[in-house]
Amino acid sequence: MLWPQAPQFDVEKVVEACRAWLTSEEAYDTVRKRLPELKAREKAYRVAGENGKLLSLLLAYRPAQRFDRHAKLLKDAYTTAFVQRAEGRKLYDAIRAAAVHGSCPLCGLQQVAQVDHHAPKADFPLLALTPLNLVPVCGPCNQGKSSKLATSVTEEAFHPYFEDLGPDRWLHAQIDTDERVAVFEVRPPAEWDEVKKRRIGHHFESHDLACRYREAAGSVVAKRRRRDAELLEQTKSPAEVRAHIRGDVDSHAAHDPNGYETALLRALAESTWYLGGGMKFLYA
Ligand SMILES: [Zn+2]
Repeated sequence: MLWPQAPQFDVEKVVEACRAWLTSEEAYDTVRKRLPELKAREKAYRVAGENGKLLSLLLAYRPAQRFDRHAKLLKDAYTTAFVQRAEGRKLYDAIRAAAVHGSCPLCGLQQVAQVDHHAPKADFPLLALTPLNLVPVCGPCNQGKSSKLATSVTEEAFHPYFEDLGPDRWLHAQIDTDERVAVFEVRPPAEWDEVKKRRIGHHFESHDLACRYREAAGSVVAKRRRRDAELLEQTKSPAEVRAHIRGDVDSHAAHDPNGYETALLRALAESTWYLGGGMKFLYA
């Protein structure tokens, strides 16, 4: 997963960008009065995120925030002033543009299409305008994500601004020669702690990545099948084909060690069936 840089602006900048709309709603002074509190919560969010305590902070916040007297105003400010009006939209687009190569940080599969509230705005209206709580995602990941906050640490969603999974390999694929498809699975490194292992498994399941990666792999295979078959035809050597694929693995792994294409190419290089001529039938 390639994770974007955190936004370089704060909640005050967002409130100012929403000013014209808030003024038209006669609500600018109201939100302005609450700004010190919004900034304090933003700071607490950052500190908790940096210290791996975000979920416990959010669970402590939730009961009071949901029924905050300005909940509707803050959610409306997000939906209307931040997303739809020009001044807010500039900041919204800056958050989207932070995605690495425009790619969704949660799946690495589709292009970023929208911005998601890490802590859902329905439960956390006081974080609705907080940039640190806004993450660029693709449509399917946003729709697949639960609108409820996890209640257990093993189901806590990864936060791209605070957590780095590092280069350890956790995504694997194999070629299923009966079904003639690639099958993806999570195999976290043994040295990861139990919570992190369960969280990556939950991430994989909740975003339906086994199914989405299996389907996406079909188009990758379709693009390279002929070239691999020609190389086998010319060289009569599965080992040559393997060496060629491994060169591609290296460049993909340098870009994203746990990208689905990296896992797929590794699986192709390890499949004697594919290397020996099965490439003509995979996803065919
Ligand atoms: Zn996605």
